[in-house]
Amino acid sequence: MVERRKSREVRIGNVGVGGSNPVSIQSMTNVSTSDVRAVSEQVCRLAAAGCEIVRVAAPDADAVAALPAIIDESPLPVVADIHFDYRLALAAIEAGVHALRINPGNIGSRKRAEAVARAASEKNIPIRIGVNAGSLEKPLLEKYGGPTAEAMVESALGHARIIENVGFYDIKISLKASDVPSTAEAYRLMTGKCDYPLHLGITEAGTAFTGAIKSAVGIGILLAEGIGDTIRVSLSADPVEEVRVGWEILKALELRNRGVTLISCPTCSRSTFDVVSVAAEIERRLADVIEPIKVAVMGCVVNGPGEAKLADIGVAGMKEGKAALYVEGKRVRTIGADGIADLIEDKVRRFVR
Ligand code: SF4
Repeated sequence: MVERRKSREVRIGNVGVGGSNPVSIQSMTNVSTSDVRAVSEQVCRLAAAGCEIVRVAAPDADAVAALPAIIDESPLPVVADIHFDYRLALAAIEAGVHALRINPGNIGSRKRAEAVARAASEKNIPIRIGVNAGSLEKPLLEKYGGPTAEAMVESALGHARIIENVGFYDIKISLKASDVPSTAEAYRLMTGKCDYPLHLGITEAGTAFTGAIKSAVGIGILLAEGIGDTIRVSLSADPVEEVRVGWEILKALELRNRGVTLISCPTCSRSTFDVVSVAAEIERRLADVIEPIKVAVMGCVVNGPGEAKLADIGVAGMKEGKAALYVEGKRVRTIGADGIADLIEDKVRRFVR
């Protein structure tokens, strides 16, 4: 088990981030924040997928005006994401958000940043200093010759000092670049410089496929080194996909567990049934299961019985069109290839009940 970097705890609504809290999963809505109904519907879908903290962009006064109703309906703590206008940050705090995300590169003068820090401090609202390589302050870009890891760290720490100067320490930091090596370097550099909890992510990672891979590699490397307290996978896709990918990253590293962990073989000419469609069908049908359960779908007797025995529910191909069903490590019967997905769904639902 990797030793996690020790960080101080901040609380975002009822979710603890940092300290001894498990690594949490967050996402961001991608509908207009002023459309309360659309936001609420999306937040509910995110919560059902296992999202624990939700962020909404607050780009204008209409969006801020919608925040009280969104917070009221949200089953998750709500973070307001503010750029450019510190007055929107003040208004979002007034509206009752559970945390703020601001970008030191664009929130304005020191005086304005201090005003936001003071208002957040009065309401005990944590602030995430979200540094992005694409929007670093000009002096830092000139000093370091570009958006280097050192520049990103200096930007975040400089802004942290402003918040600390008003006597407030409920700070989270993120240092996101769109490539894995720079992001990893920046977070590693930050670990020795403060004990604030770190929010991990690869920004603008790409589509559901490429972004999931890039995020899994980047976030996975850091988590495997014990770095990171909360994660957000950024995808050009339905944000529910971000949450699903986030969970798979945490499950793969055995940091958290939730829902079905599917073990399925890549199939080959030995397979006695259509593993590809059965595995896909099971994953789709059992996406709503929250309880941790291991399910194996294996094509033949080479690795099938071994993996099926290690799972809670498993099938292993036997001879053409037949498979053996395993429940809790025991072979219980031989089944026909037709209806394997139905049978596994039934067994899993009984098991978790
Ligand atoms: Fe091929 Fe059997 Fe391995 Fe699946 S378990 S990949 S069918 S050898």
